[in-house]
Amino acid sequence: MDAEERHRTCWYARRTADLPEDPGSHTIIDGQLAYCAHPMIWPVVRYEFDVCNCEDCDAYRPRRLDKSSNN
Ligand code: SF4
Repeated sequence: MDAEERHRTCWYARRTADLPEDPGSHTIIDGQLAYCAHPMIWPVVRYEFDVCNCEDCDAYRPRRLDKSSNN
């Protein structure tokens, strides 16, 4: 699983359509700004998130499948 897929499947991963004026060190995926809401990472990194960090991240937590969609 590559870094982008880990971000896509991680419980802490978030995306927003609010893009910064200078996308310099940010990660844009499918036109959205990717970031991490983990309580140890978010306060430090905030939106200046590099999705490559997901690759070796110890805090990765797989998102649970949404069972409500089966109802
Ligand atoms: S940095 Fe870690 S906790 Fe944050 S989204 Fe990526 S894998 Fe998940």
